[in-house]
Parts: sequence; C-alpha cells; structure tokens
Amino acid sequence: MGLSVSIFDLIFLKFPNLMSQLQRIAIAPSQFQQEQILLTKEQQHYLGRVLRLREGDRFIAMDGKGKWWLAQLAGEQAQVLEALLVETELPVSITLMVALPKGNGFDEVVRCCTELGVTCIAPVLSDRTLLHPSPQKLERWRRIAAEAAEQSERSFVPTILEPVAFNTGLSFANSQQYICVARGEFPHLKDCLQHKGQRTNDIGQETIVIATGPEGGWTTQEIENAIAFGFQPVSLGRRILRAVTAPVVALSLITAACEV
Ligand code: SAM
Repeated sequence: MGLSVSIFDLIFLKFPNLMSQLQRIAIAPSQFQQEQILLTKEQQHYLGRVLRLREGDRFIAMDGKGKWWLAQLAGEQAQVLEALLVETELPVSITLMVALPKGNGFDEVVRCCTELGVTCIAPVLSDRTLLHPSPQKLERWRRIAAEAAEQSERSFVPTILEPVAFNTGLSFANSQQYICVARGEFPHLKDCLQHKGQRTNDIGQETIVIATGPEGGWTTQEIENAIAFGFQPVSLGRRILRAVTAPVVALSLITAACEV
C-alpha cells in the first residue's frame, strides 16, 4: 500500500502523548481499501455522536490482525494518513484453555487475559462445568476481547474459539502444555517456564498452552487424559484460587517469564 511502517517512532518522538490522546477503534481488515477506511453506520455513529469527532479529526484504526493506522475522518470514510508500528505483543503465543466458570465469570477472564497478552482462548466444557453457554455468549466474548485489545493498545485481538468438550480441546494442543491442578505435589508453573521449549508456531513464535479448571476442579480422569496428551500438571501456589482468578495468575506468570 506504499505507507511507511516506521513512522510511528517518529510520531512518538514528536508527540509522546499521541497514543493516549487519540481514540482507537477496531475495524475489520476488509474495511481498509485503497488507503481509505469504509466506516460502518455504527462506527460513524460512534465516532461522530459518541466521541464527538468532526470532519478532519484524527483517530487510530486497528484491524486486530497486527495493523494500526493513523486515520482522519472524512464523511462516511476515513483517510489513512500513516501506517503505525506498534510493538505491544508478547514474544510467545499463548493459548488458554479455560473450563467455563459459573455466571458471567468468563467475561472477566477474557477481559483480563486479553490485557495480559493471550493469543487464543479456548472455552472448554469439562465434567464439572456448570455453565452451558448460549451462542450469543460467543459474540459477547469476542466483543469483550476486541474492546480489551483496544484499551490495552494491543495490535492483535485474541481469537476466542467456540466452546468444545475438554477432551476434544486437548487434541489441538501442542508445544509447551500445562494443566493447572489446585491440589497435589506438582511443580510451580514459574519453575517449569524457565525451561522454554523449542517448538514454534507458523510465525516462528514459541507456543505455550495452559489449561485451568472449573469451580469443582478437574476430575482425575481429565488430568490423566491431559497428561496422555503431553500436558504437565503444575501448581500456581499453595492457595486455592477461584476459577476466574487462576487463568489471570497463570497468564501473569507466563508474561513475567517471557516478556523481553
Ligand atoms: N474445587 C477444587 C478443589 O477444592 O480442589 C478447586 C478448583 S479451583 C476453584 C478452579 C481451578 O483453578 C482448578 O481446577 C485449577 O485449574 C485452578 N487452580 C486454582 N488454584 C490453583 C493452584 N493453587 N494451583 C494450580 N491450579 C489452581
């Protein structure tokens, strides 16, 4: 498209507050056409009526797939001024398998783990899962992930997969794989992460898969199945964490070990 991707550093040097001042909106990659962004009716409403931007005002558009642009409002479209280079992603790819907690607890998991840098969230139905979500829930979780990615200035919006049975979910796992188990003599996750594996995903990143259980915990059979698929059981410490807290702690430990 002919736009520089290194200008962002220069913009930051000149306008260090640019990121905090400019509003960010997520767009679909297909909305970007010939250096224009074709805004949906909802986005026009949001930019014009909610954010009160006027013709010629600038904002940041992100496609959730790694691209950010500095854009200028021009009627029903936005003119792309610059491609921006954003380096907020972790050097590892993290897939989080979460046995769905009760109520709206998963909303919080999606929001916090997106902020922490998760790549993919796989909601799973385990033997002791109590929630069986409606199809609308998936839409809601994807919206929460997009909003949290915007808020935390990420360049990628995590993928939220459709819920599957835990044993089905195990079959797509690869690389470093851990299952968090609340009781038992298992090594702490932080000590296991010091020995990083060598297998990488298709863009050369190391990949880590981590699973956390529901309120009632995993069954013995589920833990054995996971071990058979190459998962290592790990502890997150001596206290019993809530089903909503455990994924956040696991993600925090991984980011602390891997962020450079
Ligand atoms: N009811 C279970 C029990 O009493 O043993 C506790 C389940 S805990 C509320 C929910 C999930 O969080 C667990 O299945 C596990 O994956 C994770 N978890 C909580 N605390 C943990 C810990 N200290 N170490 C590892 N995983 C933990």
